[in-house]
Amino acid sequence: MTLDVPTLVLMLVVGFGLLTLLLELAGRGGLQRSELRRLGGGAMSLCGGFLCFALQPWLPGWLTLLGGNLLLMAGLAQLASAVSWHLLNRGLQVWQHWLLVGAALTVPAILDVGTPLRAGTMSAAMAALLLPATVMGLRRGWRGELSFRVVALMLLLANLALGLRVAFAVWWAGGGSLPAGTPGSWSSAIFMLAFMAVLAAGFAFVLAGFERMAAQMRQLASIDGLTGAVNHNTAVSLLAHSLERGRRENQPVSFVMLDLDHFKRVNDQHGHVVGDNVLRAVAACARQRLRSSDVLGRLGGEEFGLVLPATGVVGARHLAEQVRLAVEALELQGDGGQPLRVTLSAGVAEASKADTPETLMHLADKALYQAKQKGRNRVIVADDWMRNSTLQSVVG
Ligand code: GH3
Ligand code: MG
Ligand code: MG
Repeated sequence: MTLDVPTLVLMLVVGFGLLTLLLELAGRGGLQRSELRRLGGGAMSLCGGFLCFALQPWLPGWLTLLGGNLLLMAGLAQLASAVSWHLLNRGLQVWQHWLLVGAALTVPAILDVGTPLRAGTMSAAMAALLLPATVMGLRRGWRGELSFRVVALMLLLANLALGLRVAFAVWWAGGGSLPAGTPGSWSSAIFMLAFMAVLAAGFAFVLAGFERMAAQMRQLASIDGLTGAVNHNTAVSLLAHSLERGRRENQPVSFVMLDLDHFKRVNDQHGHVVGDNVLRAVAACARQRLRSSDVLGRLGGEEFGLVLPATGVVGARHLAEQVRLAVEALELQGDGGQPLRVTLSAGVAEASKADTPETLMHLADKALYQAKQKGRNRVIVADDWMRNSTLQSVVG
């Protein structure tokens, strides 16, 4: 096998150039994530570094080595910073900056030494820059987006190749030679392999960015931003799912509808900011009392729903009562810092075999209506009369 090093260098110039372009266009197209901006900067530095090596025949040797190696190191540091932003939401640590300074200082120091020593030192410095990001990617990134596993594996491959080049340089300095090709071209080829892995990590990183953004969009589409409860549509589909499962496993399912009492007054007297705080506090209060399989949904303005799988009417009423008491005991603050108390009313309904989310919610709403009629701040369980009139209104 013959290894044409200048061709490999040119491929890397084109590869990192394309990655830079892709990130630039993705950023303009709305994929604006801080880690991808850093990755874009890294890809540009790496492209520039390999461009220096590609221009070797026309540039002074010292300039190629100095410019090329420094740009590659800057690119790797930015890649490490992108990994850190993606996984920990923060940039490089102070010691990593010092590592970069130390690595950069080795470049002018090795300009005049022999090729094996220079290749070995540069590879060791670059591996040191990449290693923390690799370890972090394998440990933390593995649990994140699936595409990020490719990033972690490619960084590992890059580190291994750089380590191999260090070992190769030691062997070469000791007088080793290869039957096919010169040691110099083998050493360069291993170096190129390391950066091809870095390039693959870069493209996988873009996919991981998309994967994360899609997950965030899914969450935004199903979660109410103010209270953290699931929104109306999601609550209805989760209720449908629970009803289906309850029928299959012969388990009861209950639904509780909660509505704050005279909430309009809270807004009128204290303003919307206080009103929003109350909604957040009530949601947190209810959430604290739920099991992990229960669901808290915000059905509308100041109306919440509890989907309670494997819960009969007695358990549901007990839970609703606990939430009512806890909300009654909440010590809130009005707009002037004065104490503010709120109460809520609740309607509870256990599903029959034939119930759909709509009929069950309608039934709970009837019970809630009665709780309001009877003076508020109470829990009412739907009775047969309500069920019959619900059936009539849904069927009729
Ligand atoms: P009732 O006891 O009969 O339920 O009376 P109420 O005042 O709670 O009910 P009503 O439906 O008349 O008013 C609900 C109020 O909830 C009206 C609206 O200003 C308020 N609201 C709805 N959504 C939000 C919100 O996101 N933030 C705030 N601060 N207020 C909201
Ligand atoms: Mg209300
Ligand atoms: Mg209401």
